[in-house]
Amino acid sequence: MAQLTLDHVTKVFDDNGTDIVAVDDVNIDLADGEFLVLVGPSGCGKSTTLRMVAGLESVTSGDIRLGDRVINDASPRDRDIAMVFQSYALYPHMTVRENMSFGLEESTDLSNDEISRKVTETAEMLDIGELLDRKPRELSGGQRQRVALGRAIVRDPEVFLMDEPLSNLDAKLRSGMRTELQRLQENLGVTTMYVTHDQTEAMTMGDRIAILDDGKLQQVATPLEAYHQPANQFVAGFIGDPSMNFFRMEVRDDRLVGDEFAYPISQRTRESIGGTEHVTLGIRPEDIELVSDADGDHDYETVVDVVEPMGNENNVYLNFSADSATTFVATIGGMRSVEAGQPVVARIPESAIHLFDAESGEALQNRTLDELEDTEPQL
Ligand code: ATP
Repeated sequence: MAQLTLDHVTKVFDDNGTDIVAVDDVNIDLADGEFLVLVGPSGCGKSTTLRMVAGLESVTSGDIRLGDRVINDASPRDRDIAMVFQSYALYPHMTVRENMSFGLEESTDLSNDEISRKVTETAEMLDIGELLDRKPRELSGGQRQRVALGRAIVRDPEVFLMDEPLSNLDAKLRSGMRTELQRLQENLGVTTMYVTHDQTEAMTMGDRIAILDDGKLQQVATPLEAYHQPANQFVAGFIGDPSMNFFRMEVRDDRLVGDEFAYPISQRTRESIGGTEHVTLGIRPEDIELVSDADGDHDYETVVDVVEPMGNENNVYLNFSADSATTFVATIGGMRSVEAGQPVVARIPESAIHLFDAESGEALQNRTLDELEDTEPQL
C-alpha cells in the first residue's frame, strides 16, 4: 500500500501540429488506503490522468510518485498498479481461472500452487468461485465485472486504478456493485483512484472527490464539502441532481438585482461580495421552500411550469410569470401535490444561497452550515 502523488502533472497531445492540453498542471495527493474519485464531464482529462498513472501514457511535465519513488518513466508492469477498465478487457478464449491467474504467471515468480490458492481465495471473496471454469461469454455483465476486479485484486497491488468500471452494468446492478466495491476497497485498504462521469458514484463512493474540467483541477474535497462548499460555480453546477439553480445578478448596495427579481442581502453577504459588481446567485432545489403566502423579503410569486414526480419527491419547475424565460427548479416532498399552472410562492432563504463571481466563477460565499448542525433528527 502506498501514497500516490500527482505533482504539477500536465499532458499535452500533439494533434497534427496542434497542441491539445488534456491535463493541465494537476496536483492530487492520495493518502495510503484512500479512495479518491476523479469526476468531470466527457473530455475533461479523467482517463488521460489515470492512464498516465498506469504508465499507458507518457507525462509531458510534472511528477507522479508512488511513496517517494518517481514513476514517470517506469514501465506499467514495474509500477505495482492494477487497472480495471470499463470494457473489462478479459481474454475471451481463457477461462475465468486463467484470466485471473494470467497476470500473476507473467509478472511474479509465485509457484503454480500459490497462484491457484490466491485465485481461489479471491474468487470466493467476490462470489464467483463457482464460475472459475467458465469462459467470459458464459457470464453476465456483473460477473464479468467481478472477474475483472478479481484479476486486479489477485495481483495485490499498491494502487488500484478504475476507469468507469460500472458503466456497462444496468442501474440496479450498478448500485449493488457500488456498495460492494466500496466495502471491498475498505477491507483491502488499497489506495484507489476511480474515474467516473457519474456524480452519484462520485458522491457515494469516494473518501474524497477530485473534480476536473477542461484538464484543470477544480476542487479536491470530501463529497459533502464539494456539495455544500463548492470552490466555484462549475463544481456547484456539476455536483447535485437536479443541478443548483443559477441567477445572474448585479450588486447594488444592499440588494442584488436580476432580470426577473431583486434579492435583499444582509451586511454579512454584502461583505463577502466585496467590490465585485456582477455575481451569480446559486440555490439548490431542495433549499427552495414552496409556501402559500408571500410574507418575507425573500419570497417570490411564481407559476408552476412542469412537475416531475420522482416518487419520493417532486421536482417542480417554476417561472416568475407565465411569459418568463427563466425557469428554476425546487424539490419538494413526493406527497405534496402541486400542478402545472398553479401559482406558488418560492422562498429562497439567505442562509442557503451561494454567490459566485460572475466573471471568474469563484465562490464568494457558500451556504451557512449552522442549521445543518443544529437540526435534531426528525423521527
Ligand atoms: P470521457 O469521460 O469521455 O472518457 P475523459 O475525461 O476521460 O473523457 P480524456 O479521454 O482524458 O477525457 O481526454 C481528454 C482530452 O484529451 C480530450 O479533449 C481528448 O479529445 C484528448 N485526447 C485524449 N487522447 C488523445 C490522443 N491520443 N490524441 C489527441 N488528443 C487526445
